[in-house]
Amino acid sequence: MQIIIEKCKGCGACVLDCPQDAIRLVKRKAVIGPACSECGACLKVCPEEALFSEDAPVPGAVTCEACPIQCRIKEGYTGACQRFMNRGGTLERTIALKTYEEVKHLTGPDWKPAIRQPLITGIGAGTTYPDCKPAPHIVQSKVDGVDVVTVVTEAPLSYSGIKLKIDTDVTIGKEGAPVFFRRKQVGHLTTEEYGSKILSLGGVNLLTGDGGLSLARLISDIANRKRAKLRIDHGSRIEVQVGHRPVIDGKIDDVMRVGCGSATLGLFAGLFNEVADEVIVLDSHLTGLMSEHSSGLYVGARPSGVRLRFKQSTPGRYFGDHGKGWGGTSIIEPRDVIESVDMNVARAGMKILITETTGRKAVMMKVGKRGDLKEIPMPSDASRAVADLADTCQESRVSAVYCGGSGGSARAGVARYPIKLTRAVHAMKARLTIGGAPTFVLPGGGINFMVDVEKVMQGAFTWVPTPATVCPIEYTMTLEDYLEMGGHEEAIKPFG
Ligand code: SF4
Ligand code: SF4
Repeated sequence: MQIIIEKCKGCGACVLDCPQDAIRLVKRKAVIGPACSECGACLKVCPEEALFSEDAPVPGAVTCEACPIQCRIKEGYTGACQRFMNRGGTLERTIALKTYEEVKHLTGPDWKPAIRQPLITGIGAGTTYPDCKPAPHIVQSKVDGVDVVTVVTEAPLSYSGIKLKIDTDVTIGKEGAPVFFRRKQVGHLTTEEYGSKILSLGGVNLLTGDGGLSLARLISDIANRKRAKLRIDHGSRIEVQVGHRPVIDGKIDDVMRVGCGSATLGLFAGLFNEVADEVIVLDSHLTGLMSEHSSGLYVGARPSGVRLRFKQSTPGRYFGDHGKGWGGTSIIEPRDVIESVDMNVARAGMKILITETTGRKAVMMKVGKRGDLKEIPMPSDASRAVADLADTCQESRVSAVYCGGSGGSARAGVARYPIKLTRAVHAMKARLTIGGAPTFVLPGGGINFMVDVEKVMQGAFTWVPTPATVCPIEYTMTLEDYLEMGGHEEAIKPFG
């Protein structure tokens, strides 16, 4: 990495973001040290554009090809991720491969087979109120020769909500945008997760707000796989139903993308390279350019002189943008993604395939003598390649996890020492299930869990106008552990 001294203003942005601690400021000018592995992080953050990288080989450095950054690592130094070190001209992992035996003290114990499944579920159990009374059903039986107890209730949970996963590459709104149901805010649009958009609905603050009653009903309806219509502020109107395809602005979205533009090239470069000279995979996250991408180089794609209008992340991978165009970008006319074609490199007659990651839309362009672009009919081999891409995509669907906090007063109905119950759940001595479905219990304090609603019987979720959602809960443990936590021994009934 080189510095243009006159441009450097000594702001220190590169110093903060260099993963190698390779830059320091000397008399308010950046100075690059020998640990630099040419990762390019400083280039991305320098507001003055005072840094540049030369393609020339770095003496004594080995190029790491374990990720798109392709660090050039000098003898005795690591790459930007600190995972690889150049030792005597060979790249070695800085952490040795570990067997399970070496990490199992960290992973924690497994559930004992005897307590994996509840004896009965909480579905239809009813609730006891106040919570200090024993739970409505506490049953005991022998499983695998072990005395096992299951305690069930239907707990009203004010700390509850639902995370909706909507498989789509369509832009539905800005991250963080409020989500409305019948004019009341019920949540917000949160992160994108690979081929999906995530909505977070509910939570105690919205449940106790002025739209709380309809929100409690909405959460239990969605968890029970009923259809709901939502609106994203300054974004789309969507219809969601768990297990079904999403309807976005009146249109059913039927396929989810196979991956981002870069991943698509990683999967299909071999096929694409046989049908076009250059391939652009349009995507709002990463748009891929085959001739520069490592998968394109691997399959022998030649330089094409095509420059894209998006900002480069790493070679062949360009940050997209968001909009109503191809691949969820702002590109409505596919040729507009091409900023220029350098005819010193390109060849007249060269074919450029532009496709979405779903293969839903694709065009073929031909490069003219002056670098002009003309759309041509899609050749049959290219059509087949795009169809192969489309066939690899999964169907779009809506799925959901219900999130609840069951660490509150309802624990008193289970045992006299609620802290012991909480500890037992985290120590995998008491198994928490929801309608028989396995849960993921979040680490840290309390009992915060997530459950896939499709694994819970339809209709098992209800709501009460406190407002709260109501969900079946089961705790299953050995009799010995139950008594140790102050379980309600007098309320135990035999199972069956
Ligand atoms: S290229 Fe990477 S390692 Fe080198 S100075 Fe810049 S940020 Fe640091
Ligand atoms: S895997 Fe690590 S060392 Fe290798 S190129 Fe990527 S960031 Fe650099």
